[in-house]
Amino acid sequence: MMDLNFLHPYFLGPKAENLDCFERFLLEFLRDHAYWRRNFHPGDGNVVPTSAPYRDAFQDFIASMRKELQELSAELKNAAPFYSPRYIGHMNSDLLMPGLLAEIMTMLYNPNNVAAEAGPATVPRELEVGWQLARMFGYNTDPQKGSVVAWGHLTSGGTIANYEGLWNFREVKFYPIALATAARVTGIDFESVGPLRRRLSEYSSWELVNFSIQDTVKLLEESSKQVNAMALSDGELQRFRNQIDRETLVGLGHADFFAKHREIRPPKVVVPITAHYSWDKAVKVLGLGLNNLVLVKTDKTMRMRMDHLQELLAGFEKDRVPVLAVVGVLGSTEFSSIDPIDQIIDLRDEAMDRGTYFGVHIDAAWGGYMCSLFRREETNQFCQREEVGEDLKHFPSEDTYEAFKAVGESDSITVDPHKLGFLPYPCGAFVARNMDVVDFISQKASYLYDIKDDRGTKNRYDKLLNLGQFIMEGSKPGAAAAAAYVSHRVIPLNKHHFGRIVKVTIKSCEYFYSKINHLAYRMKKRVLIKIPFFPQTNIICFAINPKNNRHLALMNFFGRKVFEKIKINRFKPLQMKEFIGSYTSMVKGKIDDELASEVLADLDIDPQTFQTDVIDPRRQADHIFLFRHSLMSPWLLHRFEGKNYIDHYVAYLERMIHEELDALGESS
Ligand SMILES: *Cc1c(COP(=O)(O)O)cnc(C)c1O
Repeated sequence: MMDLNFLHPYFLGPKAENLDCFERFLLEFLRDHAYWRRNFHPGDGNVVPTSAPYRDAFQDFIASMRKELQELSAELKNAAPFYSPRYIGHMNSDLLMPGLLAEIMTMLYNPNNVAAEAGPATVPRELEVGWQLARMFGYNTDPQKGSVVAWGHLTSGGTIANYEGLWNFREVKFYPIALATAARVTGIDFESVGPLRRRLSEYSSWELVNFSIQDTVKLLEESSKQVNAMALSDGELQRFRNQIDRETLVGLGHADFFAKHREIRPPKVVVPITAHYSWDKAVKVLGLGLNNLVLVKTDKTMRMRMDHLQELLAGFEKDRVPVLAVVGVLGSTEFSSIDPIDQIIDLRDEAMDRGTYFGVHIDAAWGGYMCSLFRREETNQFCQREEVGEDLKHFPSEDTYEAFKAVGESDSITVDPHKLGFLPYPCGAFVARNMDVVDFISQKASYLYDIKDDRGTKNRYDKLLNLGQFIMEGSKPGAAAAAAYVSHRVIPLNKHHFGRIVKVTIKSCEYFYSKINHLAYRMKKRVLIKIPFFPQTNIICFAINPKNNRHLALMNFFGRKVFEKIKINRFKPLQMKEFIGSYTSMVKGKIDDELASEVLADLDIDPQTFQTDVIDPRRQADHIFLFRHSLMSPWLLHRFEGKNYIDHYVAYLERMIHEELDALGESS
């Protein structure tokens, strides 16, 4: 068994064991803040007189404030007990003390990370968090080591980070066309700058939408140098810049842009069927069209199927449809499956050789922090597979290992510090391999064509301090940046520190897996219990089918009955719950029929009973109901009364299944 002692100082603890320490820190920094106030112009005297608390109106106000706060405090306790190892539901757990303390302490100062002026301590820390994450992913952060340097920033969550991934790709992808059109109109043409081997005006639209991100960045940089060397008059320069701005996709809007460039079709966004629903929202919000979101089938481990992806991409290439992005999921929300990132990268590189390009974005909202388990402390080198798998039975499989190894070759990544980073909401992050992409976002790209305008030529890093110009959000919490920064400083993102927490979650999942299999064996006379997808990381799903039942509707009904016991019910006190879990459904139409049939056959269910046209809620058969557990709590392997929490849960589950089977027997 694993030694969990290292975790003891990390969290407040399920029983608030570290309350004393937590309180002392809070008090220290609360007072520190108060003295800061007092020492700013100490001679000013008090505004709130010392006699104020003795007035009735003051007392009344305090009383009403106390009442409201107490009510709030009482109702907050209806929340799921995320801190408890009895909570094995969604992606929530106890929070890291350093993060929580930094967050609360920073909130007193209310920094706004829209710009360094409003968050002088927290904006630089936010950028540093971006680099900490980038290094964990294997992106270059050192300008000495290469011209492509990564950057990252925090968002309200993975959803916004996913939007940003597409937004960034779109602005870069359609820039060369805008530049070429402006060049044609103004008569300013370019040759042999950046990736150009011919004059810019000689490139076809298809070629221009297939420039790589790196090439487009170079094109912008070097064409601007050439323009600056042309010594144009102010008027000519202004005209050129205005023309570019007018010709961009965001300048014209989608409708006019594609009407003007009829030879170019609106682009596709390719995601696996396991993709989070934020991808649906992303294409809606960005006006790309739900119709252009293309779903790739998965294999029976819920990983994206490469043969299907390849087939789709070949079709688009043949029909000359640009592909904006292929999104690989690193740790899917429902199954924590790991898409073959390495093979997606290979496909991108092969496509590049043929003159087509798509960006690769990794949605690692859940799995991003698992990368810490693969990095050595001193050198940040990627570890050998055996090294990663020490103390573990299955993880990382060869496929998983290769996928993680290729993460640094993607173009951008979404990661949620408020999930597996154990930090408070809101804290998502967007990390991009090439920081120069921000020039296309700030709507200042055309300003680069004028050396006299310091907005374009400012130091590459300094400009990032005006964060709000390059991201979706405006005003945003500096406290979240403080939390992530302090947490990453004291628990660095490598296998010797943060990686150990990740390892505990994976170990818990492996243990859970073996226990469910034991349970299935013990109960085989009465029920079939199956784990349809071997858990690749730290989320596990299983289904329970009463023996001899062949109808999906009944299996779903039975599953839901048992699930009632571990489901949050807002009309019942949570204290009455032994454990709290979550579920997922594989919906007909979304999941591939072939795959569904395999899963159902394994459960002895007749695949014909998987159908959409049954309305009776007791007979729902348009989905496959699965128990789903995120094994994120760091304390699941803690033992009491001779067993750990997983043992206790599985024993409880066994009792509940018997109970429901008995009830089912009586009712039939
Ligand atoms: C949670 C999640 C998201 C959405 O993130 P939010 O922080 O909830 O906005 C996106 N993708 C994946 C894979 C997720 O697990």
